[in-house]
Amino acid sequence: MDADQFRIAGKHLIDYIADYIESLRTRPVLPDVKPGYINDVVPSEAPEDGEPWIDMFNDIEEVVMKGMTHWHSPNFHAYFPTANSYPAICGDMLSGALSCIGFTWNAAPSCTELEMKMMDWFAQMLGLPDHFCFGSGKGGGGVIQSTASESTLIAMLCSRCEVLQDRGVDHKVEDEAKYDILSRLVAYTSCQSHSSVEKASLLSATRLRMIASNEQMGMDVNALRSQILVDRNHGLIPFIVIATLGTTNTCAFDDLQSIGILCKEEGIWLHVDAAYAGSAFVCPEYRHYMNGIEHVDSFSVNPHKWLLVNFDCNAFWVRDKHLIEDAFNVNPVYLKHENEGKIPDYRHWQIPLGRRFRSLKMWFVFRSYGVKGLQDHIRKQIKLAHLFGELLESDTRFEIVDEIRMGLVCFRLKGNNELNENLIKRINRSRNIFLTPTKVNDRFIIRFAVCARTCNEEDIRFAWSVVQKYANIVLTEMNG
Ligand code: PLP
Repeated sequence: MDADQFRIAGKHLIDYIADYIESLRTRPVLPDVKPGYINDVVPSEAPEDGEPWIDMFNDIEEVVMKGMTHWHSPNFHAYFPTANSYPAICGDMLSGALSCIGFTWNAAPSCTELEMKMMDWFAQMLGLPDHFCFGSGKGGGGVIQSTASESTLIAMLCSRCEVLQDRGVDHKVEDEAKYDILSRLVAYTSCQSHSSVEKASLLSATRLRMIASNEQMGMDVNALRSQILVDRNHGLIPFIVIATLGTTNTCAFDDLQSIGILCKEEGIWLHVDAAYAGSAFVCPEYRHYMNGIEHVDSFSVNPHKWLLVNFDCNAFWVRDKHLIEDAFNVNPVYLKHENEGKIPDYRHWQIPLGRRFRSLKMWFVFRSYGVKGLQDHIRKQIKLAHLFGELLESDTRFEIVDEIRMGLVCFRLKGNNELNENLIKRINRSRNIFLTPTKVNDRFIIRFAVCARTCNEEDIRFAWSVVQKYANIVLTEMNG
């Protein structure tokens, strides 16, 4: 493909993308394929000779769309949202075109500096304390990671490095004292936190205590305090608490104020996973959920979930950037440059060396929507969740399981788990809407998330009609 052919193919594809996004309501949200379907539509070997663009283009429907779950369909209410917007797609296109690898400042100055600027903008937009901003000169800063899972792992690795430093042990030196300390570390999180916390503990070979949750599904802070005491009495070293603002199960919020004070007293790193709900803090009326943020050492939120910046884009801030830079700093000659130390080299802030120019899509989205446009998006989605809640409340066969705090509604048919398992199975098999379940305290719960940017009141009423239709069917079947 040369430049002229690219111009044609690119325009062709852009038209296809716009048509696809604008006509998503007409496609079933879930595909009708079985595992292995691709073998019927893609040859088993790559072509020997290059093919014209039009042949590939013509295969998109049969190969890709046939097996596509349409995450941006207004009928997609599963998991949590993943973001999509036209300015973000433009940012990804430009990033793909530049294809730079911004691991050091010298390797791609604009890639580094625009990211620093966007992380400062975003911190201000969320109302985070200024010590997380590079611009404040107070020692903190932010970086784009791929996912919240990576940020949790990075926070764990940084905090354990801090424990070693505090005890006068150089984490880069082979030393028995180092391995003795590492073997005694304990991390803490609530039993409601995302599975990525457990994964981070597996990856870092660190003990993890799952602390019980209270009635509101937040972490039980008294149970946390007691467990820390028990662990210290056994000669272990509590080193990090991972709190969640907006749990995946029910969008519950941990009490940062109480957890933060405890962490301060105990000298424990506090990391916050606000993967989904953190985006809502662009609206000042939701910031009370992060009371206690001043105690936090690292904070992570996914604009790729709820803030119209396409995957992947996880924002991660640390209070003290020197810790993250020290923790992962390896410095071979081929990566050194004369500006080292004057400005961050983001290779030290992440696991891989290579990194994409992801701040472009933040830049485009933030400028295109403005803070007001992003606030409108969040408020609209929360309002739609409340509308779904009202519809549920109008039907006494259903119960809403937890308070609707953001764009997630957790509900169930009054009755046993089997009935609800049957209900969601029937709904998803219809391919009209897509829902996912969870289980809390052995109760099977159906989660309804407002996801697509284009989702509107009519879509919510349509979803409700589907839920009611299958509720009628499963209840009739059950009764006889
Ligand atoms: N944390 C929470 C609270 C989540 O809800 C999720 C995903 O839904 C994650 C972490 C994992 O996100 P990621 O895919 O960015 O790792």
